[in-house]
Amino acid sequence: MTTAPAVPVAAPRTESTDSTWWCEYAWLGGDLVESGVTITVADGYILTVTAGTDAPADAHRLPGLTIPGMGNAHSHAFHRALRSHTQRERGTFWTWRDTMYRAAGRLDPDSYYALARGVYAEMALTGITSVGEFHYLHHAPGGTPYADPNEMGHALVRAAADAGIRLTLLDTCYLSSAPDGSPLAEGPQQRFGDGSGVDWALRVDQLAKDLDAHPNVVVGAAIHSVRGVPIAQMPEVVAWADSHRAPLHVHSSEQTSEIDRCLAVHGRTPTAVLRDVGALGPRTTAVHATHLTKGDLTDLKTSGTGVCFCPTTERDLGDGIGPAPALLAGGGLFSLGSDSHAVIDLFEEARAVELDERLGRRERGVIDAQRLLRAATLDGQKALGWDDAGILRAGMRADFVAVDIASIRTAGGGATPENIVFAASAADVTDVVVDGRPVVTERRHVTVPDAAAQLGRSIGALLG
Ligand SMILES: [Zn+2]
Repeated sequence: MTTAPAVPVAAPRTESTDSTWWCEYAWLGGDLVESGVTITVADGYILTVTAGTDAPADAHRLPGLTIPGMGNAHSHAFHRALRSHTQRERGTFWTWRDTMYRAAGRLDPDSYYALARGVYAEMALTGITSVGEFHYLHHAPGGTPYADPNEMGHALVRAAADAGIRLTLLDTCYLSSAPDGSPLAEGPQQRFGDGSGVDWALRVDQLAKDLDAHPNVVVGAAIHSVRGVPIAQMPEVVAWADSHRAPLHVHSSEQTSEIDRCLAVHGRTPTAVLRDVGALGPRTTAVHATHLTKGDLTDLKTSGTGVCFCPTTERDLGDGIGPAPALLAGGGLFSLGSDSHAVIDLFEEARAVELDERLGRRERGVIDAQRLLRAATLDGQKALGWDDAGILRAGMRADFVAVDIASIRTAGGGATPENIVFAASAADVTDVVVDGRPVVTERRHVTVPDAAAQLGRSIGALLG
């Protein structure tokens, strides 16, 4: 990679104040929690943050502890349909994948939109204000492009807009079924492929043009994995991301069997393969990064590459526990994702990083709550290209998430990052504001008030 991270977008300024918010408590980063925080907002951006105030008469009140909007850095929306349907048999990641492919084979643009809108509404209700959708379900069954080859991507754009959250559409290049470049398998995999890296880039060029003026969408790129894209095709994806200064995400080192096959074919680890094609760098996120060698850690550190842990999915699939402390020491972004949506709760993802580490080490207090909360907020937003979100500060996007600190789970725990990370659940999110607009009020989604029923119907139709 040759380019630095994107420059933060300058906050639009106007003389008039669009709205005023008053937080009972607000987390302002690090260990700083203030009470009575008044935040003024114009054009969706924070103008001022003032602590120790009484509530202005015209202010919208946010009870409990307000934190910045969270960035869910890794999502496959349609995997949500599998929740609770894959918990009976034993099996592996690969048997789970067979079930996932059956769902993938049935979706069309309408059902993809309806399912994703429900999933993104669920995310909004849990305090997620940006999602990174790792999208590879591009074409009709058999691999035939739709009339608009990006019709499935546009369905996701509509779903996120209707659910009130920002979308980073990580358009995924997926061309092969194994590290040796074997073609995609017959069946649902045919829907993922564009034929070549060049053809993938042509399609994504059009998508980026279509969405260029969209205020709440970033188009990013993804290499599915070292098995999903032949090495010779990877530079096309890297070049596209470089020329657009776009986020580049890649599944990496999730499964030991995949690493073994990569070593057998290429004589290198997946991280080394990515290094050698120029895919590592500060705009890149290695998703999972579970099984890493010392050399991999050095490559990630020296290149400033970020990682995204998805602990509830990694534990659901029996993947393993990644080296979080070593990665956090590396200085790259450390973000979190709900991935397969076994649950959607970034507080659970955050605490799992520390609690998994405790189980592995038989030692407590390895990663503190402030750092974990930063992973869910600032690092997650940056990993998705939203450099102007994730902290309550003048000039940043007006994303607010109010968390109940007097619920049955959080009562007595105080207005602290520790209470949010180690005790709260997604159900404790009461109010969510995205770019200055209320999306969730008193635990109800403003524009999708029957989100649970809609989601149930979508999943029932898909699996039925
Ligand atoms: Zn994934």
